[in-house]
Amino acid sequence: MPIDPTQPYDPDNIFARILRGEIPNDTVYEDEHVLAFKDINPQAPVHILVIPKGDYVSWDDFSAKASDAEIAHFIRKVGEIGRTQGLVEPGYRLLANVGGHGHQEVSHLHVHIFGGRPLGPMIARG
Ligand code: 5GP
Repeated sequence: MPIDPTQPYDPDNIFARILRGEIPNDTVYEDEHVLAFKDINPQAPVHILVIPKGDYVSWDDFSAKASDAEIAHFIRKVGEIGRTQGLVEPGYRLLANVGGHGHQEVSHLHVHIFGGRPLGPMIARG
């Protein structure tokens, strides 16, 4: 069920619980501001989720409220993880779902990194 991205941040969302260590995760990268971990239901051979540690509901919320430093750090880390995972030469895909039409299911901003095989057309038609 997609979330409503205009609602206030829900501190009990699943990624908030992962950040608090209440639910285990398969960590790919972590620093003071960012956590990257493997998606529990991978849609490609490489499927990593990158999240900021701040309380941001969605890309919309993050881009409106986060500091320039937070945004720059987050974007640089997404790129760095793509490089360290060896994804640049074969290519990869980034995705951030927002709200209902975007089919966002977890109400903490996350960027998906997909790779490891040709990913096909950008989006299903219909
Ligand atoms: P969304 O549809 O919100 O963009 O994507 C949410 C993603 O979170 C899905 O790909 C789903 O498989 C992943 N996910 C949901 N719950 C968990 C969890 O507990 N652990 C991990 N690692 N991924 C999760």
